[in-house]
Amino acid sequence: MPIDLGFKIARIDLSNCQVRVERLEADTFDLLIGGRGLAAKLLFEGQPAGADPLGPDNQLIFATGKLVGTPVPTAGQTTITSKSPATGLYFKSNTGGAWAKALRRAGWDAVVFTGVSERPVYVTIDDDQVEIHDAGELWGKTVRETEAWLHRELRGQGWDNATIGQAGENLVNFACVMTNLFHAAGRGGLGAVMGSKKLKAVSVRGTGKTPVADPTALRREIEAVLAKIDGTVKAKLYVDYGTSATVEYVNESWSMPVNNFQKSHIEDGHLISGSYLDEKRYMRKGSACSACPLGCHKYSEVRQGVFRGKSGGPEYETLAALGASLGINDVEAVLRGNELCNDYGMDTISAGGAVGWLLECVERGALPPGAAGDLDLSWGNGETMVELLHWIAHRQGIGDLLAEGTRIAAERTGGDSYQWAVQANGLEQSRVDTRVAKAYSLAFAVNPRGPDHLHAQPMAEFGHFPEARELVKRILGREEECTGTTLKGKPELVRWHEDMFALTDSLGICSFATTSSYIVSLESLALMVSAALGVEMSGEELLERGRRCVVLERCFNLREKPNRKDELPWRLMNEPISEGPLAGHVNSAQELGGLLRQYYRLQGYDLETGRPTRELLGRLELAEGVKGLDDWAQTLP
Ligand code: SF4
Repeated sequence: MPIDLGFKIARIDLSNCQVRVERLEADTFDLLIGGRGLAAKLLFEGQPAGADPLGPDNQLIFATGKLVGTPVPTAGQTTITSKSPATGLYFKSNTGGAWAKALRRAGWDAVVFTGVSERPVYVTIDDDQVEIHDAGELWGKTVRETEAWLHRELRGQGWDNATIGQAGENLVNFACVMTNLFHAAGRGGLGAVMGSKKLKAVSVRGTGKTPVADPTALRREIEAVLAKIDGTVKAKLYVDYGTSATVEYVNESWSMPVNNFQKSHIEDGHLISGSYLDEKRYMRKGSACSACPLGCHKYSEVRQGVFRGKSGGPEYETLAALGASLGINDVEAVLRGNELCNDYGMDTISAGGAVGWLLECVERGALPPGAAGDLDLSWGNGETMVELLHWIAHRQGIGDLLAEGTRIAAERTGGDSYQWAVQANGLEQSRVDTRVAKAYSLAFAVNPRGPDHLHAQPMAEFGHFPEARELVKRILGREEECTGTTLKGKPELVRWHEDMFALTDSLGICSFATTSSYIVSLESLALMVSAALGVEMSGEELLERGRRCVVLERCFNLREKPNRKDELPWRLMNEPISEGPLAGHVNSAQELGGLLRQYYRLQGYDLETGRPTRELLGRLELAEGVKGLDDWAQTLP
């Protein structure tokens, strides 16, 4: 059966309540595949340089890939893209659940919001019917309350919701968009962009079917993937504990970012680990995003006491950010913090980063001990962390400063406080110590979002499991580089992971399957694309589409901020690890500079500035495929 490779896009202008349908031809698929690639093109073409992230010109783009809605394993991701209020730069964030599948079944590939509504609204997309409704009653409600209200109001079955909580309404710079209650499009404040537009929720119901070109061939390849999952170490860990499985390993290898990255190991770290959550029955059964056989998504519950409650998660990053990073090993406090972040729609990594920065400012005398009234601002106090999360979401007291994120908070506080803001380009670093992971350090520096793990997660550099070692051998032709601290081969590893991540996002599947566990290989992707979409492209041809997306996102950033630098947080560049077997390691300027030059050479960027050249944009066919790109490139020195 022939598959439509064109794109149907709903453009919704919230300033004047207008809905317009736009169609793009299949040449966009050939250029950038869809999903994240499609959104990168729409973002570059559809708004002026310098648009205010919280103003009417900034677009908020929900996009899905062409595999979403098919039975391809893990094909259920929504990519949300906009200009970030935290970084002032390109931002994409993925979320799971079933929202993307509903959108595809409703017949849409993307929804683009522009403008600012005068009053709170929510939008329903019921197959091809798009309507804007008053959301006055919803404003001020948590994500959980909003979901319950929509469930009552929309009655009928089959609605999937993307919502914001109070953090988005209050323009917290790290507010999330939440889908299906517990799935977060986190990090750079896309929830605040949604809040600035006075858009409380987007509810979708789709009753159509997503056809596939060759169901028999697709079934054959899916069975091969499922068989591989059964034999993959990393997949079993995801199934059993989700990403919380990683806590003990990171702590025991002395690379846990304890007390805002000052130390590397937390005593009794197993108390915040996935196995402890499971053993003590805090962890409840898991669930899966649509079409996912892994089901890494967990639920947790504290049954009694001051931290009583239940929610989705927690992920490794949350256990590290709200736990070890703040010196907290009381898992019940961390679970309550996780629940609050989900309910308010707030990113746990940045929220933990902001609280950690405050605690260190007080520890070192940059802020007074009474900066948060009577709260005890010493490390390890779970009740303080929980209280501060309320304050941040409501911008109450010092929470108003923390809600800006650590870069702005440090700029306003002055002195040496920038040193304890573990951020670069306005984004708080993921809870990964890049001083002992050199591919990670390069990947974080060149990430257009800032220093985090969701543009390229070069897990293979550690060689922890057979699939990782096999991949390193394939990329570098040798296996011996499988340690975090060696420099050789790291630019090549980062390049492959960036391209693969972008391709994965563009198809609408989950990166856990491809660039984290390495269950789904490039060849397997090519076979599934062929069977599902009837498109014959080799793995390398697909990977090149991922690379185009990476380059285009970089161009967006350079158009916004020509002097943007690929950099890492001050602490990781200037303070060596202080303790344990990895003491002394640091990301020096010289080391990072060397890695960047090798990476720029591989990419075909200008070696001094890291800018894509006009020749590269022409060779990748981006210059003619993305409106305005060549004009912009001509302005480059
Ligand atoms: S691996 Fe986890 S996050 Fe990814 S699709 Fe499956 S359940 Fe969702």
